[in-house]
Amino acid sequence: MEHRNPVSATSETSEAILCGNFSLSGSRKLHEVLLLTACIKYLPLGARTSKTKVIPLDDVIGVQCMKGSTNADTKAYLTLYLYPRGRSLTGSPTAVRHRSVVVFGLGSSHVFTENLETAHVWRQAIRGIMRPIASRRHFSAVWMVVINPSGGQGKAVRMFQERVGPILAEADIAFEVVVSEKLGHITGLARKLDLDKYSAIVIISGDGLIHEVINGLMTRPDWNRAIQTPLGLIPGGSGNALAASVHEACGETFTHDFPKHAALLLTKSIPVPLDLIYLETPSEERYAFLSIGWGIIADIDIESEKFRVLGETRFTVGGLQRLVGLRLYNGTLSYLPADASTPATTALYDDSLSTQSLPKPATDLLVPLSSPVPTSWTVVDGDFVSVYLASTSRLGVSNVGIPWAKLDDGLVYLFWVRGGAPKSAVASFLLNLGSGDHLKSQYVEMAAVRAFRLEPREKDGILTVDGERIQYGPIQGQVLPSLGRVMSRQPTA
Ligand code: ADP
Ligand code: MG
Repeated sequence: MEHRNPVSATSETSEAILCGNFSLSGSRKLHEVLLLTACIKYLPLGARTSKTKVIPLDDVIGVQCMKGSTNADTKAYLTLYLYPRGRSLTGSPTAVRHRSVVVFGLGSSHVFTENLETAHVWRQAIRGIMRPIASRRHFSAVWMVVINPSGGQGKAVRMFQERVGPILAEADIAFEVVVSEKLGHITGLARKLDLDKYSAIVIISGDGLIHEVINGLMTRPDWNRAIQTPLGLIPGGSGNALAASVHEACGETFTHDFPKHAALLLTKSIPVPLDLIYLETPSEERYAFLSIGWGIIADIDIESEKFRVLGETRFTVGGLQRLVGLRLYNGTLSYLPADASTPATTALYDDSLSTQSLPKPATDLLVPLSSPVPTSWTVVDGDFVSVYLASTSRLGVSNVGIPWAKLDDGLVYLFWVRGGAPKSAVASFLLNLGSGDHLKSQYVEMAAVRAFRLEPREKDGILTVDGERIQYGPIQGQVLPSLGRVMSRQPTA
């Protein structure tokens, strides 16, 4: 709530969608209340217009109708839940949103049910305009909420109950919860989920459970429709790269009370496209959305699992350990540069919600893993300290990936450090992941690519996909531009 430029209430009455005279909790005076297309304005009856207060509908996440506490009270109460951004000492908005509740009392009739009917009309009208039109479909049915009880520090279930569930309830979002029982459980759930019943999937975990959901959806006969289900992301793991990247992209905070702000984002969300990555190894096919790791970052990710209790700090501790015994990895890295002139991917997917069984998405930039890469590809051979492929702007809440990467730029970014880089340069590379300066070192090479192949020469080692370990060996893949959907938010004006 804030004072804005005074406007004549009378001139705006004609533009109002609804207007009424209501009481306001905490005030004895009756107020004139106007519902406009982007805000609610109210002021005490007869007061100067400079007393007008404004509630931007962008800040309102929910509205409910209630009865008073006694039977003698015939008013109906219209309760608004709002989470405006805080203000700094200079008055400029901060990133952090604070809860506030405004209650109007509707009492023009002496009969409670008549007042309640009026309150319902207001509620319907506010609900109809407080969310963008683009969000209608995913708010139309029940949301499936999946939780990884073992993600991060193992607190995701409680965090959901205490900090996320109440916000979804204020926003009147209908949801069902499934707690993951073991690795692979949620892949199976996503493969079978009734998409006529559930209009969105909310994932409370780190990146691992998102990977499970995407792979479950992509292995359905109706994958083309299924993968368009908007995914809501609540950070509940130690690596929450996608959630952080989504928040960064729409200008919402992910460094202050991330779960609360992620829940708020869901209540105001619109689905936005997300690039996916098709991957193949000699033994399997999969889909990723975040990263492929080979070398020191992958080692740290997996070897620091034992420090899980530390949360994100586990990556720093693991990094120091790895530096002491710095390893080199021998092999070949090949890629199709983004600017190479190859025919654009003939996408086999489209925006229609087809339910029929379709062939897999076209992966026409790839040749079989057993064949040499096409001549348009660039090949780098030798020893590496690290090879990393990232699709998003962040690799975690405190680690930057590719600062300029967009969720749907149709590109993935390879960056690598060759053998021969001094330990001090590797240390700076790891430390600078926190600031985004890791790409500025003379020892770090980088390419924006549309397809790639990694061929390690050793038999054993660590290879990660979206932070999860997979079988070591050759792997190749290509970007599937804008194939997925995540819930984001229109940036606040
Ligand atoms: P973190 O970011 O802490 O690693 P993730 O959500 O990424 O957390 O999950 C880590 C791993 O746990 C993923 O491979 C995920 O598939 C797996 N997993 C999912 N459900 C369970 C479960 N019930 N018990 C153990 N592991 C699980
Ligand atoms: Mg991308």
